[in-house]
Amino acid sequence: MTNLILPPATIGIIGGGQLGQMMALAAKTMGYKVGVLDPTAAAPAGQVADFQIVAAYDDQAAIDELAARSDVLTYEFENVDVNALAKHADLVPQGTKLLEITSNRLTEKTFIRDVAKVPVAQFMAIHSAKEFADAIGRITLPAILKTVSGGYDGHGQWSVDNEADVAALLADFPTGTLILEQRVPFKKELSIMVTRDANDRVVFWPIAENVHVNHILKTSAAPAVLSAADTAKIQQIATSIANSLSLRGVLGIELFVSDDHVWVNELAPRPHNSGHYTIEATNISQFEGHIRSITGLSLPVITAQAPALMLNLLGDEIQQAREDFVNHPEWHFHDYGKAAIKRDRKMGHITVIGDDNSQKLDEWSQTHGQR
Ligand code: AMP
Repeated sequence: MTNLILPPATIGIIGGGQLGQMMALAAKTMGYKVGVLDPTAAAPAGQVADFQIVAAYDDQAAIDELAARSDVLTYEFENVDVNALAKHADLVPQGTKLLEITSNRLTEKTFIRDVAKVPVAQFMAIHSAKEFADAIGRITLPAILKTVSGGYDGHGQWSVDNEADVAALLADFPTGTLILEQRVPFKKELSIMVTRDANDRVVFWPIAENVHVNHILKTSAAPAVLSAADTAKIQQIATSIANSLSLRGVLGIELFVSDDHVWVNELAPRPHNSGHYTIEATNISQFEGHIRSITGLSLPVITAQAPALMLNLLGDEIQQAREDFVNHPEWHFHDYGKAAIKRDRKMGHITVIGDDNSQKLDEWSQTHGQR
């Protein structure tokens, strides 16, 4: 059971980025008060919260202060300092185990394979160049070598397609614990957001099909075009994972599919970028779902009104979108209010509803997208 926390209680969010901002907006609509912890003053979530504590994420005194001023704590990213949060475990319905599992690719993949009993790409832990050399042959090439933590958007990943890649890596081997994964022959990348309510009932959102460019999510289209069998299989996978984790709060599950296989790629212990479309396209957004789950409220079955397309606005793309917004009444335009524009930085997104609008948004992106 989750304690029932009713408005106007205060929800404390660790992390002040766009996910925290959209969580905070959902919570504010429902009448909650929101506090945010982030090192950057006027961070996106701080701009819409009742208060922001400006401090590092692992600053124990700052986490203690947020806990003292909040009735429930949550987080918007996975690299939260678990030890600092553990002290306030009674305020964290999501628990800290979820963070421990998902903050490390090895514990995450092992959990998915052995506990949730869901298929993942074949993988091995690598601690040295020698272990890497020994693993080649046991994991069939092509493969990908990844750092177990801290990597994002393609950072800390090396393609191992052939013997030349192996030799180059052996000559200058990365430090730290790594994971070698078989590269699976997927046809589509998908994601599903899932949560559970106070009675442990599993609730999921429509499956999205995701396109990445340079390892960064570019578009999500939902619902993904899939057979009824694949849809059922993925919903079953989401249910197994959610129940194995005793899930509270929203979990994002990224998957690969081919004609005859589904693999889970990774888990995000929070709402996910590929679920932004739910703000406009479903009865309850992933952010409201997250808030409802951690406050012990009930959740309805999720329904979608029409196909949706979400386009991320990276770097300078936000400037063009700010200008063009006036000519696109069909856009649901989101600008996160970040102070500095940087290449590849997620600055905002656009969601449209309906196939015609999706096609127009695709065309806009082809003409004005970051190159
Ligand atoms: P990740 O950071 O693990 O999400 O990986 C980033 C991207 O690399 C994914 O979205 C895929 O396009 C690709 N990728 C990662 N792992 C695999 C894999 N085991 N097989 C095939 N493609 C992968």
